[in-house]
Amino acid sequence: MINIFAGSEHAPRPVYLPVNRRWEIAEAEGLPEDVSHAYAYFGDTLCGIQMDGMSPSPYRWTTAHEGTCQDCKAAAEAIDCRWPQEKRDWDVQVIAPAMDPNSPLF
Ligand SMILES: [Zn+2]
Repeated sequence: MINIFAGSEHAPRPVYLPVNRRWEIAEAEGLPEDVSHAYAYFGDTLCGIQMDGMSPSPYRWTTAHEGTCQDCKAAAEAIDCRWPQEKRDWDVQVIAPAMDPNSPLF
């Protein structure tokens, strides 16, 4: 899951991200690998598949992928349509994951 919040003068809130930058590809044992489903936020896909152990992969889900799930695409586009144009700002602060303290500095 990507943690991004609005700038410091605003209360933290999720910010707008375009469809192809918002979700990761869902991974789960038994999930067909030839179809790319978007991982939603509560252990299921945007198209509603729930499987034990489902998690987001390190790879971004996009509608341009050859095997993109069309139901996930429809859900992603429906969610995108709900974002008001005036809230689609890019004044954001990206909160990066903590560094491994044992990794080299450079
Ligand atoms: Zn799907």
